[in-house]
Amino acid sequence: MNALIDELRAGLSALGRDSRLRRRRTLDAPCGPMARIDGRKLISFCSNDYLGLANDPALIEALSDGARRFGVGSGASHLVSGHIEAHEALERRLAAFSGFDRVLLMTAGYMANLGIVPALVGRGDAVFADRLNHASLIDAVLLSRADNLRYPHADLGELERLLAASRAKRKLILTDAVFSMDGDIAPLPGLLELAERFDAWLVVDDAHGFGVLGEKGRGSLAHFDLPRDERIVYMGTLGKAAGASGAFVAASDTVIEWLLQSARTYIFTTGSSPAIACALLASLDLIEFGDERRAHLRRLAKQLGDGLAKMRWKLIPSPTAIQPIIIGDNHEALRVASMLYEKGLWVPAIRPPTVPRGSARLRVSLSAAHTEAHIAALIDALREPA
Ligand SMILES: *Cc1c(COP(=O)(O)O)cnc(C)c1O
Repeated sequence: MNALIDELRAGLSALGRDSRLRRRRTLDAPCGPMARIDGRKLISFCSNDYLGLANDPALIEALSDGARRFGVGSGASHLVSGHIEAHEALERRLAAFSGFDRVLLMTAGYMANLGIVPALVGRGDAVFADRLNHASLIDAVLLSRADNLRYPHADLGELERLLAASRAKRKLILTDAVFSMDGDIAPLPGLLELAERFDAWLVVDDAHGFGVLGEKGRGSLAHFDLPRDERIVYMGTLGKAAGASGAFVAASDTVIEWLLQSARTYIFTTGSSPAIACALLASLDLIEFGDERRAHLRRLAKQLGDGLAKMRWKLIPSPTAIQPIIIGDNHEALRVASMLYEKGLWVPAIRPPTVPRGSARLRVSLSAAHTEAHIAALIDALREPA
């Protein structure tokens, strides 16, 4: 018997008792509104493929063409020899689209966040972070070694108090733009005002807003019509609404040059596939001319909200594709999710520690690829007594 292994076994048993064991399901069809698992078809409300682009023919074609032109692997990190014409074209396109001077491509949103924060702040500095920030932002602060000051969700008053009391050399305000488990939007105009007043960076993670919110899907800053201020560092992901994978940081020329020189998750990792960059160029066309998809998404969200208005569980209305239904208890959330699953509807049950204790929920993710009939099926299943 090995004490190290025993400890892990005990940990796994504890997770099981608490209904917190995570398990994967293997899909045998592409990402889309209908998932196929073990040959069985289910309506899926799980993916972050908000515009329905992950399996779009234009992206598939661009990816294949890209692979024929540039190959599959980039072969090295960007600073060695892995920066290929397709990456460069994508960075330029994303800069023009997001309205910032310049863009740096990253291999994932997680990597982008871990790169940005430690490049801007360190020991003796302070990060002011929303309590509901994504795990990658929490880890980024730890990695930076800056003081970690957390403010209650979206509470500008408390943030102001913390900023005013801080003696830190450099300050950085860190927030999700759209909160991944609630679907609500951060008070970005107020955050920018505080960043200006207290001379702080404002780092915005727009994983769920890019492609969905704002004019032409330009994201959360566009949603509020905010200027592309020099103190804003904007991170958008490319594996959600953009339908592929990767992420980008958009900022002033100086910030991007600094990140290129010092963000360790940029420097010490292999560049993503140039073929994916080609797929993303096609994706940006569809995002830019995707008003109809975004309008459809909003109609579906309204249909769901109206349909569940008098239900016993509370749907948190959101202007985004994320529509959480709060159940509360872990076991109950799992029970409702498995009841839906039996009926052919796949909705993830999200439990602590991903969300605060006592707020286990069904996280309904809508996609422009859903139809009104898909939403109606979910509403009917939730309204039936279980
Ligand atoms: C998904 C997500 C990330 C991570 O992005 P990946 O590209 O999947 O690594 C970062 N931040 C938020 C808010 C997210 O929802």
